[in-house]
Amino acid sequence: MSRDDASMPGAIPEGAEHPDLRFMRAALEEAARAHAAGEVPVGAVVVRDGEIVGRGWNRPIGSHDPSAHAEIGALRDAAARLGNYRLPGCELYVTLEPCAMCAGAIQHARIARVVWGAADPKTGACGSVVDLFAEPRLNHHARSIGGVMAAECAGTLQAFFAERRALVRARRGRGDGSDGTQRAARGTGGSVAPIEQRDPSDPDDPPDPAIGIAPD
Ligand SMILES: [Zn+2]
Repeated sequence: MSRDDASMPGAIPEGAEHPDLRFMRAALEEAARAHAAGEVPVGAVVVRDGEIVGRGWNRPIGSHDPSAHAEIGALRDAAARLGNYRLPGCELYVTLEPCAMCAGAIQHARIARVVWGAADPKTGACGSVVDLFAEPRLNHHARSIGGVMAAECAGTLQAFFAERRALVRARRGRGDGSDGTQRAARGTGGSVAPIEQRDPSDPDDPPDPAIGIAPD
């Protein structure tokens, strides 16, 4: 990981936005789709030769699929579009640090470079908990660059959780006892579920303070 390596290398024409910012904005647009669907807002895009070839957003609850993270969706979309199960020379942009499952899929896809936004100190596999891209015993190594538009990416998550908590409070205030959400998949043995699978209405599944979301 080179979280401090979010500097802007290369010759970018004056006044032009750096591609990393442009594509992270595209990933944030995918995160907004997740938000609109009531899913924890994480978005991803796959880029080849400066062009978006795959998009995905976090949707494990609605799709009844614990593997339906944004990265997996973007990889599947890109692989289908390019007609290849491997994506050499492609870059993946995602608004939240990939988990171990997604880091594994990224390696299987032979992605060349991963750019992520907010860190996930509980399940992040690009340096926060483990750094699977720096593990020499694993075959493929993507470059991993974290912290790009981190404030915007974390803010998206914070806004979502704050909104959902306010909704739960309002409904409890009305006494209908319904939080309007389907319970998310949970870890076992008291483990903390990945952010993508958190249930923001569940007091036993508190938002992650490390991304600035203070529990009530
Ligand atoms: Zn993941």
